[in-house]
Amino acid sequence: MPVGTQATVKGLSQRDLWDDLRARLILGNTYHLFLRPGHESIRRMGGLHKFMSWPGAILTDSGGFQVFSLSGLRRISEDGVLFQSHLNGDPHKFTPESTVDVQLAFGSDIAMVLDECPPYPVSHEFAREAMERTVRWARRQLVHFRRVAPDLPTRHALFPIVQGSMFPDLRRRCAEELVQLDADGYAVGGLSVGEPRPLSLDMAEATRDILPADRPRYAMGVGMPDELPEYVARGIDMMDCVLPSRNARNGWLFTSEGRVVIKHARYKEDPSPLDPNCSCYTCRNYSRAYLRHLFQAGEILYASLATRHNIQRYLDIMAQIRHSILLGSFPQFLGGVRGKVSDPLD
Ligand SMILES: [Zn+2]
Repeated sequence: MPVGTQATVKGLSQRDLWDDLRARLILGNTYHLFLRPGHESIRRMGGLHKFMSWPGAILTDSGGFQVFSLSGLRRISEDGVLFQSHLNGDPHKFTPESTVDVQLAFGSDIAMVLDECPPYPVSHEFAREAMERTVRWARRQLVHFRRVAPDLPTRHALFPIVQGSMFPDLRRRCAEELVQLDADGYAVGGLSVGEPRPLSLDMAEATRDILPADRPRYAMGVGMPDELPEYVARGIDMMDCVLPSRNARNGWLFTSEGRVVIKHARYKEDPSPLDPNCSCYTCRNYSRAYLRHLFQAGEILYASLATRHNIQRYLDIMAQIRHSILLGSFPQFLGGVRGKVSDPLD
């Protein structure tokens, strides 16, 4: 899922996403859209799909992750979380029920439960308390969701989120409790909070055999291109990450032949396309030399062309994975990727 934090994937139009990149599901951030322009405003504008003119599906997070990572002063209680807007310091409150209502006001096709996402590292006891609260909140939210959603003219799903920090026993317990809720899909959250990358994969592995195989499973906030098949190998169906779009803007491009840091002098007069194996608009029409020039000059077009390519690269990898699964050759695909895993900090 390309990430459209503020109801836009930065640098791309909805036509770019839908017609050219053929993205069908994008992510919006509840925390940001709740603060600005506000969920009631978006509801009055006909919902998020109409507001941003997006013909595809939308998944929204619950806002919990941003409350814990972005906002000032926050206080968690059984009732919810009090926080201050990072924009102007205004106090707000999210309760498990209110975040469901906010996401239904957006018209999100897939809504996420409010959860408590601990930083890394935390003690087993801290992680256990956060996980148990996450489970209690998820129960409340499913009850609320099942009371209000049937009256709506549109269909929605609400995914609970597996937490438990980096403790496999807590993650398994959490998943076992959440499976009782018989939800439409499940998420694995609390990853990408600063832990070593292999640990994130171990946490996805921990609940692989507990989450139901016939429901989509969503790993939140991952990962590097080489990690996508690793998550799929651990039973994950859906992922979102700001890396392709954010790194594109910062001059870091993902290609089928590895990483390209476009500002490097070696690309100054390189007439070749960014990625000879990519069919995106950027690669079909422009040279590395031109992209480097736009980047160095701080031109807006650079961000647009670079983002377009990086998202195409991610969608291509997922398409290759799906294709190999259908052909029964996913193990070979995975082996090929593992042979050339690159260090993300390289
Ligand atoms: Zn491309």
